[in-house]
Amino acid sequence: MGIKNVRRGVLVGRFQPFHFGHLSVLNYALERVDEVILVIGSPQLSHSIDNPFTAGERLFMLTKALHEANIDSEQFYIVHAPDVHNNAIWVSFLVSMCPPFHIVYSNNPLVKRLFREAGFQVEETPLFNREKFSATEIRRRMQSNEDWHSLVPKAVITCIQEIGGLERLNDVAQTDV
Ligand code: NAD
Repeated sequence: MGIKNVRRGVLVGRFQPFHFGHLSVLNYALERVDEVILVIGSPQLSHSIDNPFTAGERLFMLTKALHEANIDSEQFYIVHAPDVHNNAIWVSFLVSMCPPFHIVYSNNPLVKRLFREAGFQVEETPLFNREKFSATEIRRRMQSNEDWHSLVPKAVITCIQEIGGLERLNDVAQTDV
């Protein structure tokens, strides 16, 4: 296939942390396009209850999890796209951080809206066990000492252990009173 015929899609996420829902969306996209650009959103956020992990730590998790899942490294790119305080220009900024792409896979209403307004083809994906495969649910379980290991790839557990992620989440969830 000539380079001009490569079909390339985008998947934007905060990946706080990367879980089996994200992996299923990626596999769904890879059944439809040749290459996927995984965009780490809000890379400037970390050390909070909703965004515990740094951009570098999320890059670490994604890289290890995709390798573990035997996804060919020629089929994906991982980039960062910092948030901007102006939704109207976010897509053009994100485009400047990515290889060229033609289609966006997302279930996030704002993301879908902004890309459609910018003229991109946007497709929703099926929801894969959304109640459990949810980063919010995983962070809740991590804080309440419930099972979260079954919701993320093994490689993500190893990364979170290496960076002391559980201890960090529990620390930032505390108050000073
Ligand atoms: P996320 O990690 O929560 O989700 C990533 C994608 O995976 C979403 O489309 C979500 O719907 C999908 N998903 C998650 N679990 C799934 C499951 N079980 N089954 C099917 N789909 C599933 O990330 P997010 O918060 O949606 O990321 C959006 C990013 O875009 C954020 O970083 C946000 O700040 C950024 N953003 C920035 C601006 C701006 O800067 N102005 C504007 C819009 C969006």
